[in-house]
Amino acid sequence: MRKTKQRDVILRVLSEHMDHPGADTIYEEVRKFLPRISLGTVYRNLDIMSESGAITKLEIGGSIKRFDPVINPHPHFRCVKCGSIEDLPFEINKSLFSDKPDNWDNGRTIQNLNIEYTGLCISCNGNSHS
Ligand SMILES: [Zn+2]
Ligand SMILES: [Zn+2]
Repeated sequence: MRKTKQRDVILRVLSEHMDHPGADTIYEEVRKFLPRISLGTVYRNLDIMSESGAITKLEIGGSIKRFDPVINPHPHFRCVKCGSIEDLPFEINKSLFSDKPDNWDNGRTIQNLNIEYTGLCISCNGNSHS
């Protein structure tokens, strides 16, 4: 099985799941197309793909790693009740990236920026009022 084929399938599966799935969920979906792939291979590919910038690994609250096909930095909303993670529909202020003092990253390798809002999602909010 060619590695590029595996990554193509993983990327396609991830792009169809905008709810920031964990590796286990991605594995279950990828298996429908590549029945012989192992969970370890999926984990490895997800790591390689996030290191190369093809996908985003979310390092935000919660215990499991989640993955995101959107690679532009964008804010997330995490529900503290059900654990769902949604994209919030606005862009992170560009000044966080561009209006930096010279050499602010000198000696560092900046890999990611996480902005996470927390609270109750629409359905949990609704349930708590009913
Ligand atoms: Zn919720
Ligand atoms: Zn996202």
